[in-house]
Amino acid sequence: MTASPATPLDGGAVPGAAVADIVIPAGLRPADGRFGCGPAKVRPEAVAELARRAVDYMGTSHRRAGVRSVAADLRRGVAELLRAPDGYEIVLGNGGATAFWDAASFGLIERRSHHLSLGEFSSKFTAVTRAAPHLDDPSVHESEPGARPPIAAVAGVDACCYPHNETSTGVMILPERPGGADGTSASEVVTLVDATSAAGGLEFDPAAVDAYYFAPQKALSSDGGLWIAMVSPAAAERIERISASGRWTPAFLDLKAALDLSRKDQTYNTPALATLLLTATQVGWMNDNGGLGWAAARSRRSSEILYGWAETSEIAAPFVTDLAYRSPLVGTIDFDPRLDADVLAGVLRANGIIDTDGYRKLGRNQLRIGMFPAVEPSDVEALTACIDYVAERLAP
Ligand SMILES: *Cc1c(COP(=O)(O)O)cnc(C)c1O
Repeated sequence: MTASPATPLDGGAVPGAAVADIVIPAGLRPADGRFGCGPAKVRPEAVAELARRAVDYMGTSHRRAGVRSVAADLRRGVAELLRAPDGYEIVLGNGGATAFWDAASFGLIERRSHHLSLGEFSSKFTAVTRAAPHLDDPSVHESEPGARPPIAAVAGVDACCYPHNETSTGVMILPERPGGADGTSASEVVTLVDATSAAGGLEFDPAAVDAYYFAPQKALSSDGGLWIAMVSPAAAERIERISASGRWTPAFLDLKAALDLSRKDQTYNTPALATLLLTATQVGWMNDNGGLGWAAARSRRSSEILYGWAETSEIAAPFVTDLAYRSPLVGTIDFDPRLDADVLAGVLRANGIIDTDGYRKLGRNQLRIGMFPAVEPSDVEALTACIDYVAERLAP
């Protein structure tokens, strides 16, 4: 890299004042500076739709037709977007993906689950089932951040749990059913796939999943507070069977109630109406433009720009080295030690480019970039130019 004439220093540490002085020219900046991995960019058009519905939808009863028709739109739209096979249904509940983990530990896991644990979010679900007194200790395959364990058949488990996209590290896993069997036939194992940072941005085979669940504030670029799950007939049957067995379940986490109420386009308690509408609007936007193939291609294009830039950069490199697992939705980029990524993220933030910080607990010199379908590929291109501009001034 060459030092630009505007470089305030000739190398070495940059004092705070110089950092604060770095102003990225307006012509280089992205049109929209939101690159967070959750909550992620909400398209202004979706917020405008919310404003348009300010008086006929917001502030009206979730038991009445107005809100229920939005819930119905959302359920239909998600089924279309995810190409739900016959018999699969869309279930809604409150509390985000975190609540779904608790709900699944009561309503979908019979006795013992198997988990792939490859980062913050997948390890949290593991912690839920490990702590549940009514379940046996889970089976866990762990791997280092940036890598992933294989999806292997494990004897004596009835659920296989993993993320489609591990948001903390930028590793994706193509959903599969655990193959072969040593003792347990795969049909007795339900696959529970966390798609919070994947749904609508990654193609997959829906026949490989029994519960494909997510909160809508990441890949679906809406807002938080809800969980949405596409469940297979096998998962619905599992929910019915566990419920009939009389296992005590907190009412708020009762998947049988969620299943029954979702069929009537309702939730057990009051949902976040704004989130429902934002999500239905975003899903409609994706379906109207060509569905999952179109949406996934946008993110793929964004990621080719980001990773292509990082691979030729002298100061940056993709963290996930295996191309088969490198996420097109969450880009984790390591930086050369002479450039402090936290300082870089701070300068970007001061210039209106926000939430590029690496995942705190990972503790790497890293930026993490959300490239969900709502993000314009041209804005990712602009982001790389802005990083170069700042880097030339921080580490000339
Ligand atoms: C953010 C995230 C969650 C938690 O979602 P909440 O809506 O905050 O509960 C779960 N799983 C993954 C993969 C996530 O990225």
